[in-house]
Amino acid sequence: MTALPRTGRSWSEIKSSLVEAKSKDYGWREGRLPLYVYYNDEELLRVSKEAYNLYFSENALGRRAFPSLVQLEDDVVSMALSLFRAPSTASGTFTSGGTESQFLAVKAARNKAKADSPKLRSPNIVVPRTCHPSIDKAAHYLGLEVVRVPVTKDFRADVAAISKAINGETIMLVASAPGYTHGVFDPIDRLAALAEEKKIWLHVDACLGGFLAPFARLEGYPIPDFDFSLPGVASLSADIHKYGFSAKGASVLLLRDAQLRRYQRFEFRDWPRGVYATDTFLGSRAGGAAASAWAVMNYLGEEGYRRIARRIMDTKEQLAAGINALPGLEVIQPSELCMLLYRSYDADLDINAVAEGMVKRGWFVGRSIEPEAIHFAINPVHSPILDGYLRDLRKAVQDAKEQRLVGKVDEHTY
Ligand SMILES: *Cc1c(COP(=O)(O)O)cnc(C)c1O
Repeated sequence: MTALPRTGRSWSEIKSSLVEAKSKDYGWREGRLPLYVYYNDEELLRVSKEAYNLYFSENALGRRAFPSLVQLEDDVVSMALSLFRAPSTASGTFTSGGTESQFLAVKAARNKAKADSPKLRSPNIVVPRTCHPSIDKAAHYLGLEVVRVPVTKDFRADVAAISKAINGETIMLVASAPGYTHGVFDPIDRLAALAEEKKIWLHVDACLGGFLAPFARLEGYPIPDFDFSLPGVASLSADIHKYGFSAKGASVLLLRDAQLRRYQRFEFRDWPRGVYATDTFLGSRAGGAAASAWAVMNYLGEEGYRRIARRIMDTKEQLAAGINALPGLEVIQPSELCMLLYRSYDADLDINAVAEGMVKRGWFVGRSIEPEAIHFAINPVHSPILDGYLRDLRKAVQDAKEQRLVGKVDEHTY
C-alpha cells in the first residue's frame, strides 16, 4: 500500500514518474486505440488545452462568481440547439458527459410523468437492445425499470416490437443516433410518431455521433432526420468530448420545451446555507471543460467540422475496403457514420483469435459480442496508420488460419 509521502518531491521528479507511467498505456496519438480518445491533430489539441487551462481553477457551480463561464456554457448550448434544429421554446444544459446528459433526461422524464400521473406504480422505459447502458444506470439510480426490446436484422430499433412493449407504466422511449454497438441510426422518425401518438417522452441519444452526423449530412452522406425537426423528440443528448473534439467533461442535454426544465432541476433549502439549486447532477464542475468546448467549436466552425467529417468517412471507407480485401473477413452492414465492425465469414478463421493477434501486435481491440466481431470507432488519427493496421491484420489473419487458433470471447473490452 502506498502512503502519502512524508515530504514532497520536486515537480521535475514527479513529472518524469508520470511520463514513465504513461509509456505503458496504448498510444492514442499513434492511432493504437479505436475508442476513448477523439483526436484530430496537435493544433486542435493545443486550442482545447490552452482554453481549458485558462479556466483550469474556475468552478462552474459558481454562477454568480463566474458570469463568463455561464456565458460560455450558454453559447455552447445555443450552438448545439441550432445544430439540432431546436424550436425557439427549447433550452439546454452543459453537462460533464453523456452519462450525465442521459441521467438528466431520464430524471426529467420521470419527474414529469410522476407529476402528470401520480398513480404510476412502477414506471418503465422502453428501449432497443442496442441502447447505451447509461440509460440503465440512470434508471437504477432513479428507481425505474428498463425494458430492452430485440432489434431488427439490421440492428435497428424494431418499432412494432417497441410499440407492443409499451404499457400503461411506460414513461419514456430512447433511440440512438447512431448507437454505440453497431453504429446505425434507429428509425427515429417512426419512433417519434409513435411517441407522439402514445404521448410518451422520446429521448434521442446522439452522444456518439451528434457532433459528426450533421456535418456528414452537409458533406452529402445520407443521414436520416434524428433531431428536433421531428416533433415527437422531447430531448436529445450529444457529447462534445467525442466527435466535438473538446476536452473530456463536455456534453449537452437539450429539451424541446424550456418548461420541462423544472423537472430536471434539483432544489433544496433545508440547511443553514440557503437555496441550493442545480440543473446538473454534479455540484462543483470543471470550468475548463466549458472553455475547451467553446474554444474548439469556435475554432473549427462548420467548415472545420465538415472537413473532419469527410476525413472520417474517407478513412472508414478505406479501412472497410482493406478489411474486405482480406480473405475470411468482412465488414458488417449496414455501416453508417463512424463505426465499423468486422467479422469472419470463414468457419476456419476465428475472429477472437484475430483480435488476440492484433492485441499481441500492440493494437487495443474493441470487441462486439452480438455478433462476434471487432469494433472500431474511426477517428481522423486513424487515417495515417491504416497501412500499418491492415498489414498487422493480414498477419493476424494468416496466423489464426494457419495455426487454427481459437481465441476467447472477451466481454470486458472497456
Ligand atoms: C459514449 C456514449 C454515451 C455515454 O457517454 P459518456 O460520455 O461515456 O458518459 C451514451 N450513449 C452513447 C451512444 C455513447 O456513445
